[in-house]
Amino acid sequence: MKRFWLWAERLLLVAPIVVLLLISVTSGRAQTNNYEFNDSHFHLTNNVQEGPNIHDFLNMMGSTAGRVALFGIPLQQQWSYRVDGDRAPTYYLHSDAPLYYYSFSDAWIAMAYKSLTKEQQARFDPMITGFNPTDMYAADHIHRVLQTFPGVFTGIGEFTIHKEFVSAKIPGEVASLQDPALDRILEFAAEVGLVVLIHNDFDIPFPKEGSEPAYLSQLKAFFKRHPNTTIIWAHMGLGRVVRPSTNHATNIEEILSDPDLRHVYFDISWDEVAKYIVASTEATKITADLMQRYPDRFLFGTDAAAPTDQCKYLKVFYQYEPLWKSLNAETSRKVRLQNYERIFNEARRKVRIWESAHVAAVNSN
Ligand SMILES: [Zn+2]
Repeated sequence: MKRFWLWAERLLLVAPIVVLLLISVTSGRAQTNNYEFNDSHFHLTNNVQEGPNIHDFLNMMGSTAGRVALFGIPLQQQWSYRVDGDRAPTYYLHSDAPLYYYSFSDAWIAMAYKSLTKEQQARFDPMITGFNPTDMYAADHIHRVLQTFPGVFTGIGEFTIHKEFVSAKIPGEVASLQDPALDRILEFAAEVGLVVLIHNDFDIPFPKEGSEPAYLSQLKAFFKRHPNTTIIWAHMGLGRVVRPSTNHATNIEEILSDPDLRHVYFDISWDEVAKYIVASTEATKITADLMQRYPDRFLFGTDAAAPTDQCKYLKVFYQYEPLWKSLNAETSRKVRLQNYERIFNEARRKVRIWESAHVAAVNSN
């Protein structure tokens, strides 16, 4: 009898914990079966830190977008009155004035997320972006953000190393794939389990015909140095004028087929990237074939920045209509929905575990 009571007592103690765990696991994973897509690449704010209220953005997601990787833009466009007078620039192409790293972006995103209900929060994966990737202290910034906002972030990025028109506008040291500061960031991301979303053009704009892509070999070496970090290479390395070379698909397939690069994924976000992929039935077919050979390695993203209405937000998804029609149902679902869920669920789980082991200890110091 005594044994029974001990057992019953234990059960009473344990049962609520089990229930709580079940609730937190299920509420942490929004069902996205009935949505059209999950968005692996979304900027709530623009280059001057303006954007829609997150509650209004939820209405834009509506019943079309299930989950969204949420971040600001860490590069603030300076309004230099000397240069631009009353013409206040809001985009990096609007001015010759410099861009600078704006760390407050992370706090802004965290507070926007925290203003949501638990069910609404489950639809977002906030990302840390407000660090200077040439600074050995960048990893400490990421640590500090996790410490200040535990339970919020899933990854880091989109952050930029080489980007047409952008890299050269940032004063100080030019970001580099060969910088130990960047390695330190990726090592810390691996330790915590943060998913990494990196923008790096595969080539310079207007390269000489037939020349080796400027950054491809550096990128592969960089990816190989970090086998334990989950990396998403944004835009498949393409840009507004960094256009796919004739063998771009071959270059991408070399990464996809390399057993040492299984931790590298590709997003197809940005209307400037979609324009190449839907430019001709042949271009669409090349991408579709690649996706069907490696269906687990691609993610859809919008790369919308501070959209003002639903139509603007959904534009890239509909721009890709020819691609969606070219994929078999299974690949299409993976690229639009399931790859996101697998990668971001895993990152969320790992980051929460890391936080429970590290953040409380840091706070009590
Ligand atoms: Zn980008």
